[in-house]
This record gives sequence, structure tokens and C-alpha cells, in this order.
Amino acid sequence: MKDQRSNFPLPLSSVTSPARKPGAPVTVATPQTATQNAARTAVSGGAAKPPQAPGPAPRPPGYAQTRAPSAPTPQRSDLMATEAVRRAMVAKVARQGVADPKVLGAMEIVPRHLFIEPALSAQAYIDASLPIGHNQTISQPYIVARMIEAMRAGGELGRVLEIGTGCGYQAAVLSFVAKEVYSIERIKPLHELAKTNLRPLRISNLRLQYGDGMLGLPQVAPFDGIILAAAGLEVPRALLEQLAIGARLVAPVGAQVQHLHRITRIGKSEWASETLEACHFVPLRPGTI
Ligand code: SAH
Repeated sequence: MKDQRSNFPLPLSSVTSPARKPGAPVTVATPQTATQNAARTAVSGGAAKPPQAPGPAPRPPGYAQTRAPSAPTPQRSDLMATEAVRRAMVAKVARQGVADPKVLGAMEIVPRHLFIEPALSAQAYIDASLPIGHNQTISQPYIVARMIEAMRAGGELGRVLEIGTGCGYQAAVLSFVAKEVYSIERIKPLHELAKTNLRPLRISNLRLQYGDGMLGLPQVAPFDGIILAAAGLEVPRALLEQLAIGARLVAPVGAQVQHLHRITRIGKSEWASETLEACHFVPLRPGTI
């Protein structure tokens, strides 16, 4: 088989295009636009061979040093080979207004190319959503960072919940920002994909759950933060009830027109809501498939 690794890593210029102008619409993350993103930036000459699994990222305290026997052997050199493009992606996210050093630091560590199908891995560090199958997407790096920053608001996060694991990228970033992360996915093959993607990273403070995230995880609640990676017409009541007092939930809300909302639980039966910015996510759906 022909080795096409020369397609990877990307040249820095491919991820250093000018930052979004203030007030300009945020790049959207629908399966349609993700497919367009993929097509627009596709490397001619066919699929790029993905890089090998990276070497182990530096771990915060509490990370297991053991690895599932079936996990591929991580190669430190591959993590280093993608370091420059990852740093450029993070610099672009910062230019768009994300300032939280903990979030930016986490995004510099997590190898996004491991969460993207081999044919698209050469585009892993472009600030765009990309298709992950099953009509779903990996979110744009900017929006991942923005949501985590908004949930954290500079505070320390203990236990957090993500609704919509998808390929597992945001869950991995969260694992470097919070002490304990739970992530729920309703599509079984995506839940399995996330497990496969995350295995070589040996993240011990992350639990993946197959189920309907609209119900939350009452057995583990309360949470110090909740992020929804899919948009509903409203935020499910069960999730609001599973927030700790003082904790924040960040969610896209809407159908064709969506905005990010941040809801803070300010009392036992009191929540305060803020509208942040326009966004575009795949829909939040009930049940499991
Ligand atoms: N977190 C992802 C983005 C995933 S896309 C990232 O790292 O980029 C949104 C995901 O939400 C899809 O995989 C979709 O299946 C899932 N989803 C939608 N409704 C859901 C629900 N009720 N419970 C759990 N997952 C849901």
C-alpha cells in the first residue's frame, strides 16, 4: 500500500487563516457543512494515511498508567509531529476570543486527528466541523473551546457531564479540564467509535455511557458542569435538576436558528439563563438507536 504520510501533518498555513471578524457568523457544524468542509479541504490524490497513534499525552494526576492490551502502541514521535499544527489551531481559537488557558492547554494536548476517519485526518487541525458518520459531526474546535470556557468560567470543575459523545473528542478535552467526566451517546456505533478512539489515550477520569442523554445521569448527579453537543428546542428539565447549585450548563438551543445558552443554577428551584452567540449543531434527539 502506498505511503501517503506526506499529506500529514498539514502545513501551518492551512490552519492559520485569518480569525473570524467580531460579529461575523460562527462557522456552522451541521452534517451538511461538515461534509462541505471535508470536500473543500480534501487532499487531492485520495485518502491520506492517518498518522499512527500518538505518544501518551502528559496526564494530570489521577490518570491510569495502564493500557488496554488491545490498544495500539502509542508513538511519541507522531504526537510531536502534529504538535505545530495543533498549536496553530489553538492559536486560531484564541484569536477568536477564547482566553481560558486551561481550555487552550487541553486542546494543545488532545490529538484531534485520532478522532477523525483516516480519509479526513489530514484536515484534523482545520478549525471546522467534519463528518463522523451516522449523519453526525465532530464539532469545530472553536465551539468546543468556547463551550468549555463558558461552563468553567474560570472556576475549578469537579464532575462534569457531556451529552453527545460523538467521536469522543470533546470528552477527551474535558478530561484535561475537569476531575471527572461522564459522556453519553445515543447512537451505539458512535459510542463504540468513541471507545475505540479514546483507548490509546488511556484517560482514566472519563466514563462513556450509551443512553439517552436527555435523561442525564441521575445516579451520578449532581454535576459541576453540563455541556450539550446537540441542539434541542429547550434544555431538558432533568439536566437542569442534575446541576449542582452554582454550576453551569452550556447548550445550543433552537432549530434552524440556534444560540448557545448558559444556564446557572442559583438555587434549589432557581436558574439564570444567558444567551451567548449564534451556533449550529446537530439536533438533540430522544431515545437510543
Ligand atoms: N461531542 C462531539 C460532538 C458530537 S455531535 C465532539 O467531540 O465533537 C453530537 C452528538 O450528540 C451526536 O453523536 C448525536 O448522536 C448525539 N446526541 C443527540 N441527541 C442525543 C441524546 N439525547 N443523548 C445522547 N447523545 C445525543
